[in-house]
Amino acid sequence: LPRLPIFEAIKKHDGKSTAVIHSLSGRTFTYGELVNDVAAAKDKLQKNANGKSMAGERISFLVENGYDYVVTLLSIVAAHAIAVPLSPTFPAHELRYIIDQSESFMLLSSEKFQDKADDVLKEGIETSPINYKQEKIMMGKTDDYVTLEEPESDKGGMMLYTSGTTNRPKGVLLSQDILTAQSMSLLEAWDYSSKDMLLHVLPLHHIHGTVNALLTPLFAGSTIEFQYPFNATAVWERLAAPFLPNPDPAKKPITFLTVVPTIYTRLLSSHSSLSSELQQASKTALYPSNMRLNISGSAALPTPVKSAWTELSGGNVLLERYGMTEVGMALSCGLSFADRVDGSVGWPLPSVQARLVDTETHETIKEGEEVDAATGRERHGEIQLRGPTIFREYWRNPEATAKEFVDDADGQGKWFKTGDVAVRRNVDGAGKSNQAWAHGPLYFIQGRKSADIIKTGGEKVSALEIEREMLSLPQVDEVAVFGLPSEAWGQKVAAVVVLSETGKTAGRGGKPWSALDMRKALKEILVNYKIPQEMKVVDTIPRNAMGKINKKQLVKQIWGEPL
Ligand code: ATP
Ligand code: MG
Repeated sequence: LPRLPIFEAIKKHDGKSTAVIHSLSGRTFTYGELVNDVAAAKDKLQKNANGKSMAGERISFLVENGYDYVVTLLSIVAAHAIAVPLSPTFPAHELRYIIDQSESFMLLSSEKFQDKADDVLKEGIETSPINYKQEKIMMGKTDDYVTLEEPESDKGGMMLYTSGTTNRPKGVLLSQDILTAQSMSLLEAWDYSSKDMLLHVLPLHHIHGTVNALLTPLFAGSTIEFQYPFNATAVWERLAAPFLPNPDPAKKPITFLTVVPTIYTRLLSSHSSLSSELQQASKTALYPSNMRLNISGSAALPTPVKSAWTELSGGNVLLERYGMTEVGMALSCGLSFADRVDGSVGWPLPSVQARLVDTETHETIKEGEEVDAATGRERHGEIQLRGPTIFREYWRNPEATAKEFVDDADGQGKWFKTGDVAVRRNVDGAGKSNQAWAHGPLYFIQGRKSADIIKTGGEKVSALEIEREMLSLPQVDEVAVFGLPSEAWGQKVAAVVVLSETGKTAGRGGKPWSALDMRKALKEILVNYKIPQEMKVVDTIPRNAMGKINKKQLVKQIWGEPL
């Protein structure tokens, strides 16, 4: 892999081409401006560090999505420091936790978040034994061009915190080399180019928003248009703009959209309330001839959402991929439509080595051994990964780091244990494209070992698979499945359900669908032991900004007992 630091790559692009657009104001910034502003901001950072070497030091920053965010991030990385992006939606004490845990020596904030930054600085230091200096400087812009010394790509980078779905967020250290490897891998797989116009609507403190939707397009010289916070109608209006009767020439067709499943759901449900002119123009915007790529990830993509998108877009099939903070993207479906198989996250991406380790026997499941010969059942395996895209350590957490990596006798490096379980299946017609990495048996995620694999009466059941089946019922809008302790079965399958509009009147005498009705319907599609023994209907299922459900919390909230 080329050792190409991010900032060096960006300098190679045509300085006149557009790097960033602010969707609402229409302001545009070229690659030339970006390079100048990053150099100037880096210089300013170094002045503020008062002679302290910044190599490897953490700098937290609180900046809204947009050009200033990009300049801040890149200037920290170019200064060989570690950028720690903070989410403005987090309460002050959570931000304080990240600042303390990362031992940031500087906090940067944009004008908009100065008050928030003050609140964060006022929060008491928890038990952090480390003293550090807090400084708050404003990012300014200058037209002076500052020449940068030769970059060292192994220093500097980014630290992202995991979502905290299963535990307290952990700091994942991603060096510049790792970030470059992740971006190069995606660039090859998804073919980003300078012709791409990407609409960015995601938070920028997660890997999805930063690596897939920001760094990789910057590596490719694409244009990134920021629209944040996400608003379904505004997204439709923007997508439709170039296809309206008298289009504004400044609004170019969007070619690339990568978001989480809940965003696709919200886009789909708001489409029918648009004016008929907008409906038509936004449909045209999605045609495969206009929209090059629509990607989904961060949580499982429900098949009905995928099908509805295919229908609305005139055949633009969503491409699903699997990744996590620690590894960037690891598995992905291919660019050929035939390689976007329902329920599958595809194959290991370029430069990612993946293996499935049987959760029972702890053997690596080799190709051709996906089905247990004795029982005829599919073998569940933990996804383990290694290669240049994989992180090497959790920040200041050697215990967790040691626990999550396993040695291998082949001497080719340790494998990272993702904690996610999958099965592999050969699918007719898939894996035949010219994308060399996209061939062989496909991966199907079964869920997290800790929360989604239910052992009931000796059977192993995937919560994700049951959720997928339940979501195929038109009466069901949302569902979360998990195992509850059971004396008779070890664990019993339980579900929390949000009814659809149809479901709300589908019961006897126009009443809402009941657990009994649901069980009856499920008998048609699931074997007995997979049918939830306990079901609760709720109004909403809480999710985080990436559409993830915290199942532990949900169970505690509903049954008052921990999972
Ligand atoms: P924490 O590690 O703190 O509990 P988290 O695992 O939710 O939080 P992330 O790194 O943001 O933090 O999320 C990665 C997880 O998201 C994966 O381990 C996997 O369980 C889930 N995930 C990502 N993509 C998919 C997908 N396409 N289908 C199903 N699950 C997915
Ligand atoms: Mg995790």
